[in-house]
Amino acid sequence: SKAKLFDEKNDIKVSFKDVAGLEGAKEEIQEIVEFLKNPEKYTSLGGKIPKGALLVGPPGTGKTLLAKAVAGEAKVPFFSLSGSDFVEMFVGVGASRVRDLFKQAKEKSPAIIFIDEIDAVGRARGKNNFSGSNDERENTLNQLLTEMDGFGTNSNVIVLAATNRADVLDKALLRAGRFDRQIYVDLPDVRERKEIFEVHLKPLKKQEGLDTEFLAKQTPGFSGADIANVCNEAALIAARNNKTAVDKQDFLDAVDRIVGGLEKKNKIVT
Ligand code: ATP
Repeated sequence: SKAKLFDEKNDIKVSFKDVAGLEGAKEEIQEIVEFLKNPEKYTSLGGKIPKGALLVGPPGTGKTLLAKAVAGEAKVPFFSLSGSDFVEMFVGVGASRVRDLFKQAKEKSPAIIFIDEIDAVGRARGKNNFSGSNDERENTLNQLLTEMDGFGTNSNVIVLAATNRADVLDKALLRAGRFDRQIYVDLPDVRERKEIFEVHLKPLKKQEGLDTEFLAKQTPGFSGADIANVCNEAALIAARNNKTAVDKQDFLDAVDRIVGGLEKKNKIVT
């Protein structure tokens, strides 16, 4: 069977209220929702709607979630793919895949294209050029640049891309008319972690009066993804112990377990 080229979702349910914290990022990206919903209003005085924005920040901080929320709020299709999928691709496949993606998105416009891990294709050209596969990566990157330049001003397809390494990106990607806007998505502070806990506690059967501020204080350095993980793990720990509700101790045990995992991952020796 033919390999899937990219993912297309037409009925995204994610909205801004699913994204906790990140007030600044949400405010900036809200503008893109407005562009998608009401393009004529913005182009009426001769202005051009931006073609792309780069979401920059550490892993698990909600970049993908935020991109989905844009599609959910604007009620437009969400086309997604990951830059890392292009690695080890046969000659010519990466570029044709990009061409195909933009063609489909334009047919269904207004639409969002989301490229996760754009640094995998978007690394500066002509560096580390030891292996043949890099040529293919460059072909793919060149095709992406061509597609972004080729959109008419009225195509109403907006490309969001995520990276945790904006510094390694080819400068051509950041030029005006391409990813000329950068939106920072940082690790949550204590107040934001409390809000993220509140989102992820909602579906759980939990002890009455659970102190989310306490949980937020126990989790410095945790990303939103880590917190979602803690909540899920706590529910499993409580169930294993035959409890009828998840309590504070289950959360503390879950935090310990996640911290253990993070230490292994980062090879921190304590
Ligand atoms: P990566 O760089 O690893 O792709 P990311 O920044 O795209 O990470 P997401 O995939 O959006 O992160 O986050 C993973 C999951 O973590 C989300 O689906 C959600 O459950 C949770 N999460 C992350 N950030 C938030 C947030 N700000 N509010 C609520 N949930 C969050």
